[in-house]
Amino acid sequence: MQFSKVIGHAALKAKLIGNIREGRIPHAQLFVGPRGSGNLPMALAYAQYLLCEDRQAVDACGECPSCLQMAKLEHPDLHLAFPIYFTDKVKVCEAFVTDWRKAVRNEPYLDMDRWREGMESENKQLRMGVDIAHEIQRRLSLKSFRGGHKVMLVWMPELMDAAASNKLLKVLEEPEPNTLFLLVATDMDQLLATIVSRAQLVKVPALATDEVADALRERMPELGIDAARAAAARSEGDLLEAVRLASESEAEHFVFFRDWLRACYKREVTTTAELADGFAKLGREWQKSLVRYGLFIMRQCALRWMGADGLVRVDGQELEFVGNFSKLLSERSADGIRRELEIAHTHIERNANPKVMFMDMSYRMMGLLRVDRQ
Ligand SMILES: [Zn+2]
Repeated sequence: MQFSKVIGHAALKAKLIGNIREGRIPHAQLFVGPRGSGNLPMALAYAQYLLCEDRQAVDACGECPSCLQMAKLEHPDLHLAFPIYFTDKVKVCEAFVTDWRKAVRNEPYLDMDRWREGMESENKQLRMGVDIAHEIQRRLSLKSFRGGHKVMLVWMPELMDAAASNKLLKVLEEPEPNTLFLLVATDMDQLLATIVSRAQLVKVPALATDEVADALRERMPELGIDAARAAAARSEGDLLEAVRLASESEAEHFVFFRDWLRACYKREVTTTAELADGFAKLGREWQKSLVRYGLFIMRQCALRWMGADGLVRVDGQELEFVGNFSKLLSERSADGIRRELEIAHTHIERNANPKVMFMDMSYRMMGLLRVDRQ
């Protein structure tokens, strides 16, 4: 992971890069940050920059063999430890390392819930026992593969039990040359005070609202700026929470938009009027983002027609809907619907009476869809 892929935190990145460039590389560092703040991506970017063979002024090169291996989290000098569930036979990370790499490549802002899903552990307890601490020590006794630093990244060290913590402390107290510990934690209070005192603290704060909003729109381009900002503001700087909130509102939009178009197609005036009531009760921001969502769906329908299925950005029931709905449309009606939605957006911004506007639009929609049936 390169620094450029880590959201926000410009000052912290500059500081970490400066430290490496000036050769100030502490033996143990503790990256602490709340869920969704990016403490793990930050630690990974730090490790990649350190191991890069062609460091640039503000980031790892992204192209050298070391960077290519780091992108897959498969660098031979990057060692990983993380919580797992124990079986009778397995009590070390080795057996799960492929799952962990995959989970982080999928979502670098990994949290425990996503990791549980990644390893399909359901309700099993995830922990780190003394066997993992021994595994860490064993890995560090190996020579550096590329002759440079060895990096030991321990994710969620606060889940180590007492025996493991004490063993880790011993390892930290007797540092091997060129070995670097990156402890990536969410709850520092659960760590042994002696471990904390051995490590240099790197605080990764919650993200700023604007940073979360920008990141959301990059991940979900169909999301309007207002919806992105609303989810970001409610997330309190937690990217994962913001993604959840945004997806939730998107799912809500889908159901509403689908039901409304169905009612228009079947000319069900009573249902349409009920939907108009619901539409009017929700705030203007919600109304605008519903309309934008409608425009997004219309674009997906257009892509379907053009045979550009590879560009269609929906899946699941949305995709099914786009497939069915695009069959009902002609170029003329699709253009008309798009125009109606654009006009509605302007009207909402100009404070039109939402219920009147919605009913008005519904009747015109019925007309547009009927033309196609003839
Ligand atoms: Zn590189």
